[in-house]
This record gives sequence, C-alpha cells and structure tokens, in this order.
Amino acid sequence: MLCPCGSKKIFTQCCQPIINGINAKTAEQLMRSRYSAYATKNASYLYNTYADKSKPAQSIEEISQWAKQCQWIKLTILNASPVFIEKQQRLATVEFLALYLQKSKLFCLQELSTFINENDQWRYLDGDIIKHQYLSKIKANELCPCQSQKKFKKCCAMI
Ligand SMILES: [Zn+2]
Ligand SMILES: [Zn+2]
Repeated sequence: MLCPCGSKKIFTQCCQPIINGINAKTAEQLMRSRYSAYATKNASYLYNTYADKSKPAQSIEEISQWAKQCQWIKLTILNASPVFIEKQQRLATVEFLALYLQKSKLFCLQELSTFINENDQWRYLDGDIIKHQYLSKIKANELCPCQSQKKFKKCCAMI
C-alpha cells in the first residue's frame, strides 16, 4: 500500500519503519509518521510521540477514539522550518493541511505544529490550529476526495 502521508512511496519504505521504532531524522518525518499513524489508527504510537510535557493532555484511549471517528485522506506539507534553538531546546515547526472525513463529511484542518528534540528524538510538542473547516458532504457517486479517481462509495466510504 502507498504511504498515507502522500509521499508516493510504499508504506513499508516510508512511515512504517518510523512507526515501528526507527528514529525520524527530521520533524517533518515525525509529523508524516504521526499522520500515517492517525490514518492507520495506531494510537499508542501517537501517544508515545508526544513530548514529555505534552503527554498528560490526552490518554491513549482518547486518541484512539478520535482516530477511529475520522478517515484521514490527504496530507499536504505547506512549510517545514529549519531547526532552531529556544530556551536551550531544539525545536522545529511544520505547517500542514490535512483532509479528513467524518461520517461522509469532508473537513480541512490546517495546523502549525511545533516539534521538540528530546534525547535525539523528535516529538510533537503542540500545535496552533490555523483553520479547521467543514468543506462538503461527499455523495456516494462522487469522485473520492482522496484523488484515487474512484467513486467515493467504492473507495474511502468503505474504510
Ligand atoms: Zn509516509
Ligand atoms: Zn478514497
């Protein structure tokens, strides 16, 4: 299967090795792997890749509930900053646009995420939501918004 992160690489050669424990080299790689973990509903990976100080905010169960309700269908990376130092922490930001479906409704989420390097590992610190909007309801016979060129009912509606 193609990687959910939209890299056009095969999942096993893109985000899956990172999800399985190989270190992400950049904040963007970590961000992509977290998106792919949402798409494949891997809540424990999402939990484990929160920065230490952000961890108590959500339980694995809550993350799992959210991941189950949504089908993540498209990721676009808008901008990835170089690493910068703030208060002796190594940080980087990634701005992205994600499309997801919830009960056949298409939503768009644009977020500026901040990542922190802890013990040589990139971790999700927090995010500012720039835009979060409902786009449209997808009908069964429409082309699927994931750009598969298939009808919605034969594509993401079946997930
Ligand atoms: Zn990927
Ligand atoms: Zn689709």
